[in-house]
Amino acid sequence: MEIVKVNLGRRSYSIHLGEKLSQVGRIVKELDIGKKILLVSDSKVFRYYGETVKKSLEKQGCGVFVAKIPPGEKYKSLNQAIKLYEKCVRTKLERGSAILALGGGVINDLAGFVAATYLRGINFIALPTTLLAQVDASIGGKVGVDLSQAKNLVGSFYQPGAVLIDSETLKTLPSREIKNGLSEVVKYGIIKDKSLFEYLEKNLEKIKKLDISSLQRIIEKSVRIKAGIVSRDEREEEGEREILNFGHTIGHSIETAGDYRNYRHGEAVSIGMLKATEIAVAMHLCPSDLLLRIEKLLRRIGLSTRIEKISKRKIYQGLFLDKKKRGGKLHFILPRELGDVFICENVPFHLIRKVLQK
Ligand code: ADP
Ligand code: ZN
Repeated sequence: MEIVKVNLGRRSYSIHLGEKLSQVGRIVKELDIGKKILLVSDSKVFRYYGETVKKSLEKQGCGVFVAKIPPGEKYKSLNQAIKLYEKCVRTKLERGSAILALGGGVINDLAGFVAATYLRGINFIALPTTLLAQVDASIGGKVGVDLSQAKNLVGSFYQPGAVLIDSETLKTLPSREIKNGLSEVVKYGIIKDKSLFEYLEKNLEKIKKLDISSLQRIIEKSVRIKAGIVSRDEREEEGEREILNFGHTIGHSIETAGDYRNYRHGEAVSIGMLKATEIAVAMHLCPSDLLLRIEKLLRRIGLSTRIEKISKRKIYQGLFLDKKKRGGKLHFILPRELGDVFICENVPFHLIRKVLQK
């Protein structure tokens, strides 16, 4: 068991790694918050792990109410948030009460958003059950919902009181979802940690077979990187947090252009990371060996490396609608070498079109 701290000025919170979900009651008790809990979960995840969590909380004397949401990004909506607010009212949640999110990124963002806004904010605890949520969504406090116009258009920064990561839950996760999360782990290697990238290269077969100790190793390294970045730049104001967007400029546009049906987030980011590296190579900012090495690892994982079935023109146009566009400028995070990236504001448009056409 390992605890990683996220330090935010006056406040900090703990990420409990390698902890069992059955220990959630103990962790909630240590936080010294109210005894009334709304457990928000995805109905599929609840079938696997809901009772364990509920029992553990009840053993510590908590009153637990459950809200189940069907799986799928389309439920990360204001409509579902309203249903949850109504449940909060019916169950008489108070300022000291807590919302627990048991599930992947969808549940984390939706339940976190409701916790951030109900009564101007009640306690929030994240119990992520997908690799993507364990290494990314549950850390850093970005919560929100999608609108029909775009993803994550409404939201807030709202840090949890604690995060409990039980990597054993990944045993039931479909392999496509494991790959989806591995894409973000590759990202951490490229932006900050050469040794993590090398570890993935050496241990990929074990990781794909869901060997727990190697999974725990890559989760811990990823969580430490993200926790460090968030501690230094909580609200993406100082610049450092922006490097987490490596692969996401084009990645987001691919997701949107495919109406969120063709590609999962990590799959789109995989292509986005390659396209960003191609740009860096074309601008003579990084060696072409790096591109080959990243592509090889992504292929071995089984992630997408090419754009298929989506209009490249639509992807290109989408780049300019992206909310991350600052002051009219497109920002790209480009690699210099493994573990070192920088923000580039002057990528020539013709180069973007060229790498998209490949
Ligand atoms: P993310 O945003 O983290 O990629 P989602 O919240 O969209 O993930 O969940 C992806 C899918 O995985 C959903 O269908 C969900 O029901 C399922 N899921 C999440 N965690 C688990 C788990 N531990 N075991 C099995 N299925 C899971
Ligand atoms: Zn991402």
